[in-house]
Amino acid sequence: MFLAALNLINFRNYDRQELTFHPRLNIFTGLNAQGKTNLLEAVYCLAVSRSFRTNQESELLRFGSDFFYLEGNFQIKKECYQVGIGYRPPRRLQIKLNGKTLKRAEYLYRHPVVVFSPDDLLLVKEGPSIRRRFLDTEGSRLKPLYYRRLRDYYRALQQRNRILKEYRGSRSFDYSLLEPWDQALVKFGSTVMEERIKFLGALESRARSHFATLTAESESLSLRYLPTIKFNGDFELLESAFREQLTAGHSAELRRGTTLVGPHLDDFAVMINGCDVRKYGSQGQQRTVVLALKMGEVDLFNSAGDEQAILLLDDIFSEFDEERSNHLLQFLSCREGQSFLTTASPSWKHSQNCSGQSKIYTVHRGKIKID
Ligand code: ATP
Ligand code: MG
Repeated sequence: MFLAALNLINFRNYDRQELTFHPRLNIFTGLNAQGKTNLLEAVYCLAVSRSFRTNQESELLRFGSDFFYLEGNFQIKKECYQVGIGYRPPRRLQIKLNGKTLKRAEYLYRHPVVVFSPDDLLLVKEGPSIRRRFLDTEGSRLKPLYYRRLRDYYRALQQRNRILKEYRGSRSFDYSLLEPWDQALVKFGSTVMEERIKFLGALESRARSHFATLTAESESLSLRYLPTIKFNGDFELLESAFREQLTAGHSAELRRGTTLVGPHLDDFAVMINGCDVRKYGSQGQQRTVVLALKMGEVDLFNSAGDEQAILLLDDIFSEFDEERSNHLLQFLSCREGQSFLTTASPSWKHSQNCSGQSKIYTVHRGKIKID
């Protein structure tokens, strides 16, 4: 699958722009603040019906405009279809596929797209909640059961926390009030943990090989799930371990007024040669790790469906040395799927790695020209 053409009207700093794309690699260069990221955002928005930068559609409207419209042609094998996405507040976002209106839920995540943006570095720089969100959004895109169990888990957790908060510090608390929520937490939480661990394992095996290539085999990447429920790795025994540890913590939970164990508090560690990247990784290493995770995700998408994911890489070369940049370009020009990348640095132009399999564009003040 690839995006063959895109028209933008009043999207971010674009007034009107018509573009056709290469089925493989598309490279957007330009100075800062010209519209490179905005263009990737438009591609993402057309493919997924939301932005990767904001939940506020009004931010996507070109300043002073009362609507935006994106239209594009996707090609799958020999078949072509047209998607139109329009927004005119106060109406909701409108989605049309070959002229037929679709609800957002029918369209969302129809196209496999993986995006790497500078914000993704938070994945290895920040606290655990951002890594849980990564596991949950990416894992549940690949597996609907994951999404359902996660939703059930968080609903039960909310109810349980409500009770613990209400009776916080009480000396005559009736623990049987927690029983139905304990059961739900154990049942749904064990599935969430199992799905996360499996997803992380699958991601690790793919990301490891990309990481090794990007670093010319000099560094090795590993990922380890860090559960708050201790268990020996046997999923058959997970529910009983969960129940035991939940029950053992009842009185502490009542004192604190909240649930103290479970996947809502779990994390995962990202390590290079056995050292935690968050604490010891250089900027370039952190970037390489996140990129390898994203490339691993692309592979997971590819093995889950028969369509190659579209890969969007924003501001990709900053902080990469020449060797890593070349490995990346080689990967992108060899991959079958379509990629879009932006860079403010012109140094890649000297590389021979992408010749023939790419189209190069210059972005200047919200206008795009093919080089
Ligand atoms: P950098 O290399 O610094 O990342 P960029 O080319 O990726 O730059 P963009 O993030 O695409 O730059 O933004 C380009 C410009 O778009 C910015 O100057 C910003 O002010 C402008 N912009 C953002 N949103 C809107 C909007 N809704 N309407 C008009 N202009 C906007
Ligand atoms: Mg940018």
